[in-house]
Amino acid sequence: GNLTFTMIKPDAVKANNHAKILQHLIDAGFRIVALRMWCMSRNDAKRFYAVHKDKEFFEPLVDFMSSGPIVAAVLEKENAVAELRKIVGATDPEEAAEGTIRKLYGTARRYNAIHASDSDENARTEWSIHFTEADIICHIACSFSNFISVFVGCMFTSMFFASRLSVMKKAG
Ligand code: ATP
Ligand code: MG
Repeated sequence: GNLTFTMIKPDAVKANNHAKILQHLIDAGFRIVALRMWCMSRNDAKRFYAVHKDKEFFEPLVDFMSSGPIVAAVLEKENAVAELRKIVGATDPEEAAEGTIRKLYGTARRYNAIHASDSDENARTEWSIHFTEADIICHIACSFSNFISVFVGCMFTSMFFASRLSVMKKAG
């Protein structure tokens, strides 16, 4: 699909790197469809990382993710999930490839600066913890109304020139 979900984690927001990370995403060809800076409660974080509830790193992960503001975003690009995972890099910043966001801004396996959804289905489940459907649909509605206004504008312009042309023809 063309949409994915990302979240700049509390470590990166505390280090004041969130604007740089958003710019990194934009430079990589992503468009921001929805954006929200807020604090997750422990319950929100538990729900968000529910797939890891039996792992030994779950409790400290929940503490970390609810320790301060995060920046959540829905992103648009062709083949969005795979493209985002590629520029985010491996879970452990030390193992992440040169130039990836985790290599640049992560400091430890837990404090790895950013989350990226791993499938279209998970992206949808994850962004619904942070956004309402209206937050996402408004973007689509905006691009649709822009399309309509450009379309109608072109139609009137061509009608105008066509009528000028017929006036000129009649005048010989
Ligand atoms: P994310 O889901 O956040 O994009 P990921 O898919 O690369 O990261 P997961 O295996 O889903 O990695 O782990 C979720 C998060 O839990 C990691 O991003 C990291 O913050 C934390 N984590 C994972 N493994 C460990 C570990 N061994 N020790 C501490 N924290 C860990
Ligand atoms: Mg994951």
